[in-house]
Amino acid sequence: MSLAAGCPRCPTPPARTGDGVPGWSCPEHGVITPLWRPEEASYDGFVDHLTLAGGFPTYLPWPLGPGWRVTDFGVVEGSASFTSVSGTSDLDGPVDVLIVAEEAGIGLGARCAGTRHDDPGPEIGDGPPATKVRVEQKSVPLWPVSTSGTAGEWDRSVVAGEAGGRWLWLVLRPASAMLLLREEWILRNVATMGPALLDVPFGGPKPPW
Ligand SMILES: [Zn+2]
Repeated sequence: MSLAAGCPRCPTPPARTGDGVPGWSCPEHGVITPLWRPEEASYDGFVDHLTLAGGFPTYLPWPLGPGWRVTDFGVVEGSASFTSVSGTSDLDGPVDVLIVAEEAGIGLGARCAGTRHDDPGPEIGDGPPATKVRVEQKSVPLWPVSTSGTAGEWDRSVVAGEAGGRWLWLVLRPASAMLLLREEWILRNVATMGPALLDVPFGGPKPPW
């Protein structure tokens, strides 16, 4: 397989646990269900990703704009997935967008977003949403998640909401790229895309997080 195991919550490399029980353990977070990521984003790696994801959705903005690429992705079996796409916009120049879907308590979205808590928090659903995206024909409202007091707090915008009973996070760099979401983006579950996936460009530098 082309994917390597990591911890969903931190960059510390996990170790295999012994005692005949196959598993993984993070020195920081104990026994974990690993996050599987490619060394470098590729079509073959993405096929492995989708196999591991099983019925769990993996979202991409669709259609991808001209010149946009899938630069990274990862999956925690049965509980989380992320993709990152990178391209340029007229207003912002180079833009990175990370999309995370996860069950509550996994902590991957918070890690990608660099926010303090595992889950988005009480600001979700409070007041008017910052933006909306379309997921599987449904309009999904997204609220801003505060990055104040965290490292590089002004370099990104973070919004989150709930899609299909799971957390959905979007992390946009630079922060001003939020304006891209003015026109309701469409997120497609890649698992249902079929042959269109063959046209998706992969590769290029991964965004930092
Ligand atoms: Zn960890």
